[in-house]
Amino acid sequence: MFLQGKSAIVTGSTSGIGLAYAKALATEGANVLINGFGDADAIEQARAELETASGARALYDPADMTRPDQIAAMVAHAEAEFGGVEIAISNAGIQHVAPVEEFPVEKWDAIIAINLSSTFHLMRAVVPGMKRRGWGRILTTASAHSLVASPNKSAYVAAKHGIAGLTKTLALEVAQHGITVNCISPGYVWTPLVENQIPDTMQARGLTREQVMNDVLLAAQPTKQFVTPEQVAALALFLCRDEAAAVTGANYSMDGGWTAA
Ligand code: NAD
Repeated sequence: MFLQGKSAIVTGSTSGIGLAYAKALATEGANVLINGFGDADAIEQARAELETASGARALYDPADMTRPDQIAAMVAHAEAEFGGVEIAISNAGIQHVAPVEEFPVEKWDAIIAINLSSTFHLMRAVVPGMKRRGWGRILTTASAHSLVASPNKSAYVAAKHGIAGLTKTLALEVAQHGITVNCISPGYVWTPLVENQIPDTMQARGLTREQVMNDVLLAAQPTKQFVTPEQVAALALFLCRDEAAAVTGANYSMDGGWTAA
C-alpha cells in the first residue's frame, strides 16, 4: 500500500490498459479518478470495485479528451474531491487504419486530439498542484509506434511519436520540482482498440483475420505473445515509487522485443 494518501487520475480507464492502471493504483491504496466512455452500469461497477480494492476513494468523470475545458474541469474535480492529484496517467487513445491518401481528415483530427493533445492539456492542468506539493508522477501511454512506424497508421504513429517528445520536454521543465515524467510504450495488448482495428487492417492489406492476428500482430513481437494490461500497469507502479525518482524523460518499451528487432 505504498500509495496510501496519494491520488491519481487515469484518462481512458473504462477498459483495457487504463483500467489495469487504475486497479493497480487502487490496490496500492491510491484514490483514483477514472475516465472514459462505455456502458454506465459497467463503469459504476468498475468504480465500486476500485473502492473495495483499497478502502480508498474512486470517482468517475466523463470528460471528453477532445475538450480542453472538460480536461481542466476533470482535474479540478479530482483536486476538490481528493485534495490534490499526485499521479496523472494520460492513457485515452483511439486508432484508425487507412492509407494516407484515403485517411479521413476527421479521423486524423480525432486521433491527434485524443492521443496527443489531451496529454498536453492534462499536463497543463496537473503540473501547478504538483509543483506546489513538490512531488508528482506523470505517465504517458505511447506505443511501440512512438519508435517505429507501421503502414496505414499515420495519425497514430504521429501522435505516439509526439507523446514521446512531449514527455521528454515536460520532464526537463519540471525536473527540479520533484516531478518525474515518463512514457510507457507497449507493444500489442489484446484490448478493444486492437480488436477494432482488425477489419480495417484486413481491408487495407488484403489479409484474412487469421493473417492479421498471426502475420501482423503477433509477428511483430519476437515473444509471439500479446503484452497484458497487468504487465503494463506493473511498470507504471514502479515509476510511481519514490525509488524511481531518478527516472525521468524515459520512454519504456514493453513490447515483447518488437522495437529491439
Ligand atoms: P481501449 O479501447 O481498451 O481503451 C481506450 C480508452 O480510451 C477507453 O476507456 C475509452 O473509453 C477511452 N476514450 C476513447 N476516446 C475518448 C475520449 N474522447 N475521451 C475520453 N476517453 C476516451 O484501448 P487500450 O488498448 O487499453 O488503449 C489505451 C492506451 O494504450 C491508448 O493510448 C493506446 O493507444 C495505448 N496502446 C495500446 C496498445 C494495444 O495494443 N492495445 C499498444 C500500445 C499503446
